[in-house]
Amino acid sequence: MSWFSDVQLGPPIEVFALSKQYNDDDFEQKVNLGVGAYRTNEGKPWVLPVVRAAEKALANDETLNKEYLPVLGLEAFTTAATKMLLGEDSPAVIQNRAFGVQVLSGTGALRVGAEFLARVLGKKIFYYSNPTWGNHKLVFKNAGFVEGREYRYWSEKNRGLDFEGFITDLRNAPEHSVIILHACAHNPTGSDPTEEQWIQIADVIREKRLFPFFDSAYQGFASGDLIKDASIVRYFVKQGFELFCAQSFAKNFGLYNERVGNLVVVLDNPEQVAAVKSQITLLVRGMYSNPPSHGARIVSRDNIRTMSSRIIEMRRLLREALERVGTPGDWSHITQQIGMFSYTGLNEIQSENMVKKYHIYMLRSGRISMCGLTPSNVDYVAEAIKDTVTS
Ligand code: PMP
Repeated sequence: MSWFSDVQLGPPIEVFALSKQYNDDDFEQKVNLGVGAYRTNEGKPWVLPVVRAAEKALANDETLNKEYLPVLGLEAFTTAATKMLLGEDSPAVIQNRAFGVQVLSGTGALRVGAEFLARVLGKKIFYYSNPTWGNHKLVFKNAGFVEGREYRYWSEKNRGLDFEGFITDLRNAPEHSVIILHACAHNPTGSDPTEEQWIQIADVIREKRLFPFFDSAYQGFASGDLIKDASIVRYFVKQGFELFCAQSFAKNFGLYNERVGNLVVVLDNPEQVAAVKSQITLLVRGMYSNPPSHGARIVSRDNIRTMSSRIIEMRRLLREALERVGTPGDWSHITQQIGMFSYTGLNEIQSENMVKKYHIYMLRSGRISMCGLTPSNVDYVAEAIKDTVTS
């Protein structure tokens, strides 16, 4: 009898399964709109020139070695990353009550933050938007949260935010629940609250004593402006909130596989920093001991470059093509949404039809990654959407 004979087959991870299917497909015009990874106008992955240059400089720097980093990571990186999010002049930075922990990309930041909230603070309930990035639930559950609940976010009817539903669900959340908020460029819908709506959201979070846990995976990538894409987190800090923010450098630096992330912690009282750091140290030590240095060295060496303009341009081209071929319906949401993803409004059957009939790989939820669109495949995709919604 094997130790493993009772192991059940787990469900596939949709986005990875889709990429495999795409790779195995030999149809010439196939298109991958599944995975959220930047592509050039020629549809190729791209290593930023600034990253190549930093890697060359690092390779030639004989002062660097392969010793362990501290458990909480490279300080030059965590300081730079924290300031990139909060701003040099942030009250929390100036008052020494904000710090960063270098973690394994955005996912690692969410996991370490969630472990702290569940295991050290004893938090039990977390809220996530419906829909949200596919991994939030798994990460928070595995970190020790007892219950995950949805707050309403997307209105099928308006193809935009269901603000009333959102705010009502927050109002009804039990005190001390943790609320996952996308800092900008909501994944998968591409629809963010307006500034006025954020002000109301912050008011309810304060009134109901909820804990804001921001997820910032697209700073600089969404609008092309680092400050604008961080403005909501900065607003919360100015309002005096204590918060966590999971910062990923996968997308804005194109460092997907280097796993560079920063967990930003903002506290009320600078005197609590040492205690909180010590507890996070224990969590990390028991998980993976300390983080890798390569990606963090690249990020701390150089300023960010953004790839947002090509994506904004592809939104314009897709909408134009859909309208040109006479696709029924209103497609203005394609250009109103921001960031890497678009919630097309295609339903599950239509999305599956796109994959099966047209070899255009997209999630069943109707989410497409704008990065997979290029000037040479956008007309093909638009035609396919038109045929799909009319048939
Ligand atoms: N949060 C959101 C909303 C995301 O879209 C992603 C990446 N798809 C992540 C977190 C984390 O990605 P990573 O762990 O690669 O940084």
